[in-house]
Amino acid sequence: MKKMEDYVRTIPDFPEPGIMFRDVTSVLQDPDGLKLAIDSMIKLLDGVEFDVIAGAESRGFIFGAPIAYAMGKSFVLIRKKGKLPCETVSAKYDLEYGSAEIEMHKDSVKPGQKVVLVDDLIATGGTIEAAAKLVEELGGEVVKIIFLMELAGLKGRDKLAKYDVASVITYD
Ligand code: IMP
Repeated sequence: MKKMEDYVRTIPDFPEPGIMFRDVTSVLQDPDGLKLAIDSMIKLLDGVEFDVIAGAESRGFIFGAPIAYAMGKSFVLIRKKGKLPCETVSAKYDLEYGSAEIEMHKDSVKPGQKVVLVDDLIATGGTIEAAAKLVEELGGEVVKIIFLMELAGLKGRDKLAKYDVASVITYD
């Protein structure tokens, strides 16, 4: 039987020289890969009590929404700046390559709600750290952060030391 990492294609020098890009499209386009990915991420939430899944644009949507659906929870969006139509909170952060700003609708997380953050991959941790700050600004509690893939060498976890973080695949 194929393991989760067998479904991930690695593209050297994308989008810039020196970056080993872990490509999730090869996971998604294989029905067994997609199922294993969602099921494996759901397992990371064993025993976790929560109300909301918040997914980071755009691949966090792909994984977050089916997890929320399967677990009977709500799904809220963490989007790139300028995409959400209602009142938002926003945070700027540095990426592995470049910088960005993300937003959430002010009414997407209610004070006191327990929130699980989902993305496909953690590199430097900047995206999810900014996302966690937004959830907290809205009064939510980040109870778990899950990824399909983790680039451990970039030490993203160091930024997330105060959170419970888990990933399905870890690359050195
Ligand atoms: P971070 O903020 O540095 O942790 O970067 C994480 C974000 O960049 C995630 O939203 C990922 O989707 C994206 N990303 C960075 N490196 C890769 C990669 O190798 N493969 C796929 N996505 C990546």
